[in-house]
Amino acid sequence: MNLILFGPPGAGKGTQADNLVNHFKLNKISTGDLLRSEINKKTPLGKEIELAISKGLFVSDDLINSLIKQMLENKKISNNLVFDGYPRNLRQAQDLNLLFKANNQKISSVLSLTVDKVTIIKRILGRQTCSNCGLIFNEFFHAPNLNNHKCDRRFLIKRSDDNEKTILDRLDTYFKETLPIFSFYREQNLLHEINGIGQIDQIFEEIRRIINTLET
Ligand code: AMP
Repeated sequence: MNLILFGPPGAGKGTQADNLVNHFKLNKISTGDLLRSEINKKTPLGKEIELAISKGLFVSDDLINSLIKQMLENKKISNNLVFDGYPRNLRQAQDLNLLFKANNQKISSVLSLTVDKVTIIKRILGRQTCSNCGLIFNEFFHAPNLNNHKCDRRFLIKRSDDNEKTILDRLDTYFKETLPIFSFYREQNLLHEINGIGQIDQIFEEIRRIINTLET
């Protein structure tokens, strides 16, 4: 099974991708995480990526597609994937279809999380990620506590692009570049829309219900 989580920044794609990984034993491919790990290496490429991300812009399709190609060719994880933050424009979506075809795989479903702009901004401003275990929390909606998080609080960090100015630029880029993918997948009968507002568990319940209807 190969799933794509689709939606604006702050829609909860990362959180639900982690739920899918735990429940269905899928492998998560988050292009944002891959790019952040390149930034942490402080390479010239990392610096270039950091600049694009800080402006709310996308990094180049060629770079992203080469990262994805390596993943799809890795037999240990292939055909068992959940994509978070990819594809993000029409060219990436078309390239992904070609890559899947070349590797005899296919997309099982595109799960689109719908969230309004006010909630998105609040979610992004409250987002905290654990740099030790990778779990994602939110100081307003899903705060870390002794029951849901085992690492020390000092590991909780805020992403540098989660500030009010960059959020508006990212949303702008989303509407211009990413939203057209919605019709691309709807025409292929792959799209499932999910209300992304509500309790994390309830949203995941709806995702599971959809997955159970899929022919894999
Ligand atoms: P995310 O963690 O998915 O919110 O991604 C953080 C940032 O990384 C985005 O705002 C983009 O600048 C960049 N990025 C992530 N995924 C992609 C992608 N598929 N194509 C281009 N840029 C990306």
